[in-house]
Amino acid sequence: MRQAEIASKDKIEALVEGKLPDHDVKELIRLAPKDKDRFWKYLEILQSKVPWKDKILLRISDHLFIVASEGGGRVVKCDCGHEFDDYRVNWKFNARVYVRRTREEMAEVISVEESILNPNIVEMREFYCPGCFAQLAVEVVPVGYPPLFEIFPDLDTFYRDWLGAPLDNEDPGWYQEKTAELTSQWSKEG
Ligand SMILES: [Zn+2]
Repeated sequence: MRQAEIASKDKIEALVEGKLPDHDVKELIRLAPKDKDRFWKYLEILQSKVPWKDKILLRISDHLFIVASEGGGRVVKCDCGHEFDDYRVNWKFNARVYVRRTREEMAEVISVEESILNPNIVEMREFYCPGCFAQLAVEVVPVGYPPLFEIFPDLDTFYRDWLGAPLDNEDPGWYQEKTAELTSQWSKEG
């Protein structure tokens, strides 16, 4: 079979939706050399499924995307349209958070008694979108540990070196984390 058929847009769409049969997923993974435009097809499919027009640069979770905003920024946006901050700031700091701190609270989501975590050591945090209330992430971390910054991609390197299509506002500053700037701003306001 020709590569174009193996990695057709229909198949990539089914893959994005989690509906592609295992056999076809393996075939796509093993395809060598990989077809050059698969990432662009993938982006096109993602873009067709969201209700807004900002250009998707990367999907970072089931609901979240890094998008190029109209003002030239790169921001995290939920599929519902809610915008978080600049993508260099951990979006979790701008999400709704529910923390499970006791055995009883953890037992609501962990049905096997023996699997319940020790609340003296760890807490369970659930992050929700302030716009649509979708659950965006769950983390189990030592009590008081800073929210995990799960994905902080070097977008310019990815687009320039891997895709051969540099982003138009390339700048080394895009790969500098900014979460600390937000929290220090909060401490000044507090
Ligand atoms: Zn949302």
